[in-house]
Amino acid sequence: MGDRSASDLAGTSGVNVSSGVAGAPGVDGAAGAPGTSGAPGIAGAPGISVRQLTKTYGRFRALHRVDMDVAPGSFLALFGPNGAGKSTLLGIIAGLVRPSRGQVFLDGEEITKDRDEDLGKRIGALSYQTYLYDELTVLENLRFYGRLFGVENREDRIGSLLTTVGMEARSGSPVRTLSRGMRQRVALARALLHDPDILLLDEPYSGLDQDAMVMLKTVLAARDKTVLLVTHDLVRGLESADRVAILNHGRLVFDAETSELSPSDFEQTYRDHVV
Ligand code: ADP
Repeated sequence: MGDRSASDLAGTSGVNVSSGVAGAPGVDGAAGAPGTSGAPGIAGAPGISVRQLTKTYGRFRALHRVDMDVAPGSFLALFGPNGAGKSTLLGIIAGLVRPSRGQVFLDGEEITKDRDEDLGKRIGALSYQTYLYDELTVLENLRFYGRLFGVENREDRIGSLLTTVGMEARSGSPVRTLSRGMRQRVALARALLHDPDILLLDEPYSGLDQDAMVMLKTVLAARDKTVLLVTHDLVRGLESADRVAILNHGRLVFDAETSELSPSDFEQTYRDHVV
């Protein structure tokens, strides 16, 4: 998602700060009005819609007119080969990457141009970049982010998340002394700290051991958030998500409910669309 600072992650810098336009306008060429999907939802958890989203780096087009919906409270697993544009898409939704064209809506409210200051506080992002400070201890990192996100009952919240991710015993260790998987556990605690209602997870399983994978599965099974997960693990993604989508060469080439797919069907579908 690019090399951005903690304040970018918290939504406290970058794009202009003001409230977005209430009520999403119609978009030419878009697949229906955002925020109207009938998939299972949870009151309070916002939906994500992207419309005609395009990102170019110089002459290279990393995303091309992507239309995608993640219904409120639902879980979408996004697959695609290296370089398909998955991290770019998550980065744009997280506000860490600027789109070239197109729109992103949260709860039907456009956030692409005017990004509300509080928006970053509603999003928890986890990627290969942990956003942790190596020289600070686990606890110091979480306290720092807790203050940045204005988390209430900070010490209790941190203590409970350290237990969730199984890192209480290492809370006093500088992050630089931790293994890759341990850092990933702490990064997950950091992403969950402010109890965001949207989770953007880019390869969250990388480096995690079996116990941590079970822990992450349990966290996601709570289903109290809108989740967009990028993974190469077809089986794990399929079993966790309500919908799956495939991105290839910057285009969304497949999108379906998981109830319509068996793992073997989906592996074949993936091969058909990605080769
Ligand atoms: P994925 O996450 O699916 O592997 P990415 O979104 O990271 O793909 O990248 C999509 C394409 O955009 C790749 O070809 C990548 O090289 C290119 N790309 C990503 N970020 C940049 C950047 N900052 N500058 C130039 N090209 C980039």
